[in-house]
Parts: sequence; structure tokens; C-alpha cells
Amino acid sequence: MPEGKIIKALSGFYYVAHDGEITQCRGRGVFRKNKITPLVGDQVVFQAENSTEGYILEVAERKNELVRPPIANVDQAILVFSAVEPGFSPVLLDRFLVLIEFNFIKPLIVISKMDLADHAAAEEIERYASEYRKAGYDVLLTSAEAADGIDSLRPFLEGRISVVAGQSGVGKSTLLNMLRPDLELKTSGISSHLGRGKHTTRHVELIEIGGGLVADTPGFSSLEFTELEVEDMTRCFPEFLERSEFCKFRGCTHLSEPKCAVKDAVEAGDIPKYRYEHYTEFVQEIKDRKPRY
Ligand code: GDP
Ligand code: ZN
Repeated sequence: MPEGKIIKALSGFYYVAHDGEITQCRGRGVFRKNKITPLVGDQVVFQAENSTEGYILEVAERKNELVRPPIANVDQAILVFSAVEPGFSPVLLDRFLVLIEFNFIKPLIVISKMDLADHAAAEEIERYASEYRKAGYDVLLTSAEAADGIDSLRPFLEGRISVVAGQSGVGKSTLLNMLRPDLELKTSGISSHLGRGKHTTRHVELIEIGGGLVADTPGFSSLEFTELEVEDMTRCFPEFLERSEFCKFRGCTHLSEPKCAVKDAVEAGDIPKYRYEHYTEFVQEIKDRKPRY
């Protein structure tokens, strides 16, 4: 039986890409029995009826599943932050990073609009970039205006399913348009296809860019920690997680426990203070959360 990947779901049809072709498939009753609804990003086995139509028979186990946009098997989140307009915010970046890590997705940090940064702003961004690289993240600096750094994204797209994330106006659509000019995604704000798109039909499509697939709808638009518990937060800061085996207590939350390797690293300047401060803020936010029932 042929296999493929769902790249679009619309009006009960699933568009399965395989061998450079697309077959329009319907789901069979088997899904209703197992309560599985096929999702964009799903790897499927299908039966072809003719050269363009078929039925989905099986959905492979998912490695993860996003709700907004509804996509399975997301490998990477391309987190776009602008150097200026709007200005770079490490606390907002950390909030996005936590939500992405929580979903077992690999983040890629892209800092756009470097052409608009003056000398001081550029120096500050470079410093943050090296600190986030030290924490284990890939960080790319781009300028759409100067067409600078855009191609450095391509190797990160290859063979992966990516979603783009970031505030409105940071340059997400511009970036994708530069990578694939024929897309002609609307840029700048409200009408942007990559923007909220409240009035457009809620459907998501994976588009081929740079040998990979990128969702045409941005992810992580809700920045609340509603799904997280305090224990989850410890694995969402990779440079903390890496040191936690040296904490005296197993399951150390790096708050008030003695002999904490994370706090030692902050003290020694190996972990930036702001990363630790954001961690404690986020943990407090979870503790203050009203019970949901
Ligand atoms: P989105 O809402 O994140 O999709 O952002 P857009 O791609 O619509 O970009 C918002 C605005 O920023 C547009 O006016 C773009 O032309 C502008 N912009 C995007 N990237 C850059 C860049 O690298 N340099 C400069 N100078 N402007 C940019
Ligand atoms: Zn600790």
C-alpha cells in the first residue's frame, strides 16, 4: 500500500503528498472507531482508487500534536523576533521557548530586521544571540531589507515540518516570501495570511520550502502556561536540565533547595541572571494559577 504525508485538510478531504504527487483522500470508518481524526502532518497509508483519489487506511503514531494550528509531527518552530519594531524582548522569547519545548519541538530563533538596528541595538542582539547559543539554541540574524541571512535558514528547513511563531509584525510572512517568492503571502499586519486571519477559513496547509514543509499558519499564538505544571518548567530550560543531574536533590526545582547546580551556575555567571529570573517568574505564574475546576 502506498504511504504519504497529509499536507492539507479541507472539507473532509485529506491531501496526501507522495512521490511528488498529491492524492485527494477520504478517511475510512476505521478512524471513527479509534477516535483518530487524521491531521495535517500525519504520515498515512492509503489506498488509491485512481490516479488522483483514494482512502486513508492507517495513520502512523504521532510524535506530537499541536492544537493551533492543528498539525501533527511538528519537528521545529521557527521563532521570529525582530531586533526593533517591535524591540527584542528576552522574557517574551523565553515564554515562547518554554511552550515550544513543552511540546517536544525544536526551536530555531531568528532575529529579523537587523538592518533597522543601530550600533548599540545590534551589539545587544549579538550578546543575546551568543547567550542563547550557549544555552543550546540555534540563533540566526536576518535582514529582509538587505536580503541578508535568509539563505542560512534553508538547511534548517530541509526534511522537517516547521511552524513559524512570533508576534505580529516581526516579519514572519516577509521571511517566507523571501524563501519562496511565488507564495506571495500578504505582509504587514491584519490582512496577513500568516496573521490572525480571523475572517479567513480555518484551514492549515503545509507548504514546501527549502526541501521541507512549513505551516502557512503561525503557531503558539496563546502564550499562557495553562497546560504546564511546575515540574514541566524544569525541562523547558535546556541549560538547567543539563545541569540538574549535579543538583543534590533529585527532582530539584532550583528554587530553595540547597546545593543546586543551576543556582551555582547563575552565581558563577554561566547562566544569565535573566534566564533564571524568567524561570522563577514562570514557576510563580503556575503556582498562582487558579485551579481549573
Ligand atoms: P508578520 O506579521 O510577522 O508576518 O510580519 P510581516 O512579514 O508582515 O512584516 C511586518 C513589516 O515589517 C512589513 O512592513 C515588512 O516589510 C517589515 N519587515 C519584515 N522584515 C524586515 C526586515 O528584515 N527589515 C526591515 N527593514 N523591515 C522588515
Ligand atoms: Zn537545582
